[in-house]
Amino acid sequence: MSAESLFPRLEALLPKVQKPIQYVGGELNSTVKDWDEATVRWALMYPDAYEVGLPNQGVQILYEILNELPETLAERTYAVWPDLEALMRAEGVPQFTVDAHRPVRAFDVLGVSFSTELGYTNLFTALDLAGIPLEAVARTEADPIVLAGGHAAFNPEPIADFLDAAVLGDGEQIAIAITEVIREWKAEGRPGGRDGLLLRLAESGGVYVPKFYDVEYLPDGRIQRVVPNRPGVPSRVFKHTVMDLDDWPYPKKPLVPLAETVHERFSVEIFRGCTRGCRFCQAGMITRPVRERSITVIGDMVANGVKESGFTEVGLLSLSSADHSEIAEVAKGLADRYEGTNTSLSLPSTRVDAFNIDLANEFSRNGRRSGLTFAPEGGSERMRKVINKMVTEEDLIRTVTTAYSQGWRQVKLYFMCGLPTEEDVDVMGIADLARKVIKAGREATGSRDIRCTVSIGGFVPKPHTPFQWAAQCDHETVDRRLRELRNELRNDKQYGKAIGFRYHDGKPSIVEGLLSRGDRRVGRVIHAVWADGGRFDGWSEHFSYERWMKAAAEVGVDVDWYTIREREEHEVLPWDHLDAGLDREWLWQDWQDALSDVEVEDCRWTPCYDCGVCPSMGTEIQIGPTGRKLLPLTVV
Ligand code: SF4
Repeated sequence: MSAESLFPRLEALLPKVQKPIQYVGGELNSTVKDWDEATVRWALMYPDAYEVGLPNQGVQILYEILNELPETLAERTYAVWPDLEALMRAEGVPQFTVDAHRPVRAFDVLGVSFSTELGYTNLFTALDLAGIPLEAVARTEADPIVLAGGHAAFNPEPIADFLDAAVLGDGEQIAIAITEVIREWKAEGRPGGRDGLLLRLAESGGVYVPKFYDVEYLPDGRIQRVVPNRPGVPSRVFKHTVMDLDDWPYPKKPLVPLAETVHERFSVEIFRGCTRGCRFCQAGMITRPVRERSITVIGDMVANGVKESGFTEVGLLSLSSADHSEIAEVAKGLADRYEGTNTSLSLPSTRVDAFNIDLANEFSRNGRRSGLTFAPEGGSERMRKVINKMVTEEDLIRTVTTAYSQGWRQVKLYFMCGLPTEEDVDVMGIADLARKVIKAGREATGSRDIRCTVSIGGFVPKPHTPFQWAAQCDHETVDRRLRELRNELRNDKQYGKAIGFRYHDGKPSIVEGLLSRGDRRVGRVIHAVWADGGRFDGWSEHFSYERWMKAAAEVGVDVDWYTIREREEHEVLPWDHLDAGLDREWLWQDWQDALSDVEVEDCRWTPCYDCGVCPSMGTEIQIGPTGRKLLPLTVV
């Protein structure tokens, strides 16, 4: 297929669409390499709009690493809004990359990063616009390998029929390895055709090729087994773990968006993994073990990223940033270094303790003291034990009292509704906590000018977590509990006006639940939803629960069976052949512990409790302290 730029044809459409600038490319630090000098070419997609997709760290990191390789190029593509989609269909303009506006179908690989399952319908749109057959079996050598990554790829079964391959875990090293396999296969004259390449990838054990596995079902609909259907394909596929983050200090040249995006800052990932053991948290479970970036490399990355991008805000990212073993030194070092400059620092941490406020105080030296967020997650002490969120009411009140008395006026509390074993009283406990927070704040400051916002998300049981066996709470119950909680807060004359309340209804969580724990049969629902106009399902203004339920009924998929049904210990789960390193028996025991309110410590500070990851993946916890300090930058 010709790789000529589509821009002349696209340009004619842009005056007719919203935010046309998102499609033009040419951002600071973007890269356009010579097409003919590359032997392996990647199109990288974040399956959402540019404003959400551009800041995505995973895509930015792979984009840079692949473009650094000789004879390799990578360009980016995002989901186009429905207004441009309609015009592209009318004018026959295919899905394009924003870097050189090349047709996506001309690339060797279309790598798609799924942070959430709600991006699946956007993949379908991109494939269809690109002219790539939706079903993997219908693709030819003229089509790219469609490869999924990201957290949702830990159970890609619902989109298995539409993918050629999926990779689990950290992408840096496996993206390079896949590139070399493709390069060799091409250099050898493409032996075995498309299947020959997929077989080479599958045989390594590090790339999952769904069509090389057959799924057999029991008469009652549960899975009997998943087995490879050709020799050389391993029965299990393993996740990838980058062991020394200091060796991978990306992004070195952060992309600076042309259009408005959800985050406009330079983000440095200060560690990967989390072993706090929150039972609802898929990210914490699948990214084990903890691997810290050293304080000196963090300092160098911040200095370099600010210089290369011109961003004035720096975010220190991770699943629980305040847990870095040298975070106090990092915070002080960076705050000293940038004091009095226009560079501000942020730490998106939600840990509930006074130490977190010390860090926030450091980071707010250059900025405003707006709001602090804490995440108790569960409204009652019992609920927090079930989810292994070791925060007591006393901890929370002590922490918010410190925050209010140190000048913070706004505290945000994050909770979930619909957790396993949850009862009405657990959710109403959120109102009690919020009232106590305001009371403590008023007493600490002597002022009524303080606020607390309660923000609630719906819980969705996820694969590779102890709650993977749990029944999801139905949306009627979630909605009723949240209505009652809202009324309780609204009717509170003493504290109600100081408490904000944000929540979403429970229906999107049911669809997310269907896609999270679904198997290959759920693919027909996604296809039917997409054919019926489903797009941008992560956006409330585009999401339609009715469309999903109608599609499920049409193709004969029982949504309740996938969502609100509790699974038994030995049921074969759709993702059991995909190995995140977690020992299944340990996960089951942790689920039983949850039901008995038994808590588990963090293995960073206590002995290993044998979750299975380190021995099976050949990894280890990597934490400091290193004892090093951040020095002020020399002004040149
Ligand atoms: S194997 Fe042990 S040390 Fe490694 S993540 Fe699991 S509990 Fe922690």
